[in-house]
Amino acid sequence: MSDGGTPGLSRGGYIIGCDREEVGDTPDARYVEVVIDSAVRELDRPFHYGLPEDIRDRVTFGSLVLVPFSGRPALGVVTAFPQEPGVGSVKDVLSALDEPPAFDFDAIRLAKWIASRYLSSFSQALRLFMPPGRSRKVRQVLALEMKAGDAHELLDARPTLEEERRAVDLIAAGGGEVELPKLAAEMGERTANAVVEKLAELGVASMRYSLSRPAISEKSRLAVRLLKTSDELADERLGVKQRAVVELLLEGGGTGALSEVLSAAGAPRSSVKSLERKGIVEVSSEKVMRMPRLGSASDERPVPNDKQVAAVAEVTDAIDGRRREVFLLDGVTGSGKTEVYLLCIERCLELGRTAIVLVPEISLTPQTLERFSSRFPGRVAVLHSRLSPGERYDQWRGILEGRYDVVVGARSALFAPLKDLGLIVIDEEHETSYKNDTAPRYQAREVAEARAKMSGCPLLLGSATPAFESLHRALAGSYHLLSLPERVDSRPMPEVEVVDMRSEGGGGIVPLVSRQLLDALSRTVEAGDQAILFLNRRGFSNYLQCHACGAIIDCDSCEVSLCYHSRGNILMCHHCGESRKVPDNCPSCGAPALKGFGAGTQKVEDEVARHLPGISSIRMDADTTRGKDSHWELLGAFRNREAQVLIGTQMIAKGHDIPGVTLVGVINADTALAIPDFRASERTYQLLTQVGGRAGRDLRPGRVVVQTFNPEHPAIKALTDGGRAFVAAEIRSRQAASYPPFVRLVNVMVMSPDGNVAARASERLRRVLESELPRDVKILGPAPAPLSRLRDQYRWHVLLKCGDVPKAAPGIMRALSSFRDYSKSFPQHAAVRVTLDVDPVSLL
Ligand code: ADP
Ligand code: ZN
Repeated sequence: MSDGGTPGLSRGGYIIGCDREEVGDTPDARYVEVVIDSAVRELDRPFHYGLPEDIRDRVTFGSLVLVPFSGRPALGVVTAFPQEPGVGSVKDVLSALDEPPAFDFDAIRLAKWIASRYLSSFSQALRLFMPPGRSRKVRQVLALEMKAGDAHELLDARPTLEEERRAVDLIAAGGGEVELPKLAAEMGERTANAVVEKLAELGVASMRYSLSRPAISEKSRLAVRLLKTSDELADERLGVKQRAVVELLLEGGGTGALSEVLSAAGAPRSSVKSLERKGIVEVSSEKVMRMPRLGSASDERPVPNDKQVAAVAEVTDAIDGRRREVFLLDGVTGSGKTEVYLLCIERCLELGRTAIVLVPEISLTPQTLERFSSRFPGRVAVLHSRLSPGERYDQWRGILEGRYDVVVGARSALFAPLKDLGLIVIDEEHETSYKNDTAPRYQAREVAEARAKMSGCPLLLGSATPAFESLHRALAGSYHLLSLPERVDSRPMPEVEVVDMRSEGGGGIVPLVSRQLLDALSRTVEAGDQAILFLNRRGFSNYLQCHACGAIIDCDSCEVSLCYHSRGNILMCHHCGESRKVPDNCPSCGAPALKGFGAGTQKVEDEVARHLPGISSIRMDADTTRGKDSHWELLGAFRNREAQVLIGTQMIAKGHDIPGVTLVGVINADTALAIPDFRASERTYQLLTQVGGRAGRDLRPGRVVVQTFNPEHPAIKALTDGGRAFVAAEIRSRQAASYPPFVRLVNVMVMSPDGNVAARASERLRRVLESELPRDVKILGPAPAPLSRLRDQYRWHVLLKCGDVPKAAPGIMRALSSFRDYSKSFPQHAAVRVTLDVDPVSLL
């Protein structure tokens, strides 16, 4: 066993361009490079092993193998075939598992890229590609190599231990195999091991290894299959019932589910038994593919308009030419982006190639899935977190076996084992749910680009409100910009009306729902239409806002808002840690009107009921959507006009296409502005545009009423002037203040159940980072994270601004390991955890 010294494969040095020569090839390989499946960081490097001749033909890239590690067998995956081992003596691979390779070469390459890009361990990155729902426990069984009778004969002919005969009996009783732990329980571990060795030596039985199949593996049923043709059957003498079974099977293409065949033929199980004895049929268990529920098919095919045709032409041209280009489809809500995706995918299928479509988890509604599955019947697999583990495994398996050529799903669908990709589509590409929130903390947009590059296919990003990073790339020319500036059929965009809440106060108390919004609401309902009232409460409510001028107080050095802490009555910047006393008067206008904000959906519901009695409403928030499908059920009820108003949090903002809605009211546009994050303005603009886009999707024009204390804010003004100027100004200010996409951020989070320990540890970590990192990396903090305590962990963070993450990576890793060494000498630091988030989408 040795370190893998292979160039290009060391930590931090993983490169997307690594090619096959570098990792060697399989034929005649005598050595393998193996990554141990373990979460332990110290083990996260390749180890070299010898490859015994007898298993050489069963080992390829991605094969699962058992290797000796610290004196016991460990599970690993083969990632390369080096010419020579890194050091003199290497141990041999113990055995290859009876499993198809978990990965192919491209998957290994992509996992390497992910590990280096997001500073995760390689084995964590590899897990993204593992079949979902499989356990990583290795099942060890002793299996007979001959008939039980022959085995006994062989044993009888020589001096034999009683235990060896017992083992053979146990194997025979277990249908040809027995699990090693069971054998050990019967006769003691030592004896069992000796028996295994002896039986193997005699060639009677041998050990086999596979992954445990947990309850969630494939579902199976008994099937009956005809073994003879109808001609051959003509001469057979069969009973009436047996004849009926045979006739049914002939009609059904030769096979059927046993239970169904029996009941249709009115035959008892014994008829099939006699057919089996005559060698006419065979009964075996077969896999049942669980198919997740898909909506009913309604295949309407609109004639694409000129803009759609132009966009499709550009993308299909890249598909045809296998060009690795990235397209950004910037199309307003309701402009027919999905239709563009469908037409491009159609081209892939015509060419015999495959496609992946990522949609945000929240818009994986039956409606969305239906649009894909009805266009490509029987060819669409679905992967998302609402499936049962068994369903997910079945879909994955079906994809691997080539039964589907389109995969629609949430971000993890990106790792689906499709062959010959023709296109990857990411809908609503600006969504933060494309960032994985556990290690490896990858951004699906970036990984999709890497996968598309490796597969030689284009990537199509679509959104009504593209991420500013993507827009910047499009404007700078590295993405191709495609636009759909109008809704289909010239339907008008909704009219946006901004209500200045500063003038609503009158006597001092500002109402939750303005007169304008109440008026609009009652008119909408009178006209027989529906309305959505939107209140964004996620994000951050611990901020102060001046109810006279609307100001939210920002940090002088960080371009983020300050958070209000009632303890000590202070305002604090959660980027740099600066804090100050809460001023008595607003620093902008001098009025004594600084107030905290906090109102829930429940309050809005009460308010509406008080002013407009008789209106029926449905409330959708974290409290009313706990059940598995409650989210879809509530939306379905609203769609069916069981209520006139839908009141909800951001979960109602996206993707829903409800024809009856002509009014959208935004209760407080400022909540998202106050999030202590440099993307607060961008998020506000995106969220409000998306939620406004729910209005007037059908034939009647829509209207959006936005309540704000900040009508002059660029993100709010952008809602009424198209947003171009806002995007440009925002990108300029990111450049000036050194924020993405002009630098890359790494958020280093330090957590401990003890607040003082977390603070001191983060201080220490900053110092080691300072000494290890190049000068051009800017280090901010430590500061308490905005969510300074979460699940009993105190959280402090240090924020790095890097020009080049790969260049900074070795220093970051050195700092972390020296920090760990330091922590070992302090018992109270034992519980300190550190996480790295590269390109964080949230700094909370
Ligand atoms: P987006 O994804 O941009 O929000 P969709 O693709 O969902 O827009 O299109 C909105 C609606 O318009 C859908 O019902 C779709 O079937 C329909 N549609 C799409 N393209 C056309 C077209 N060219 N003519 C008429 N209707 C269309
Ligand atoms: Zn600051």
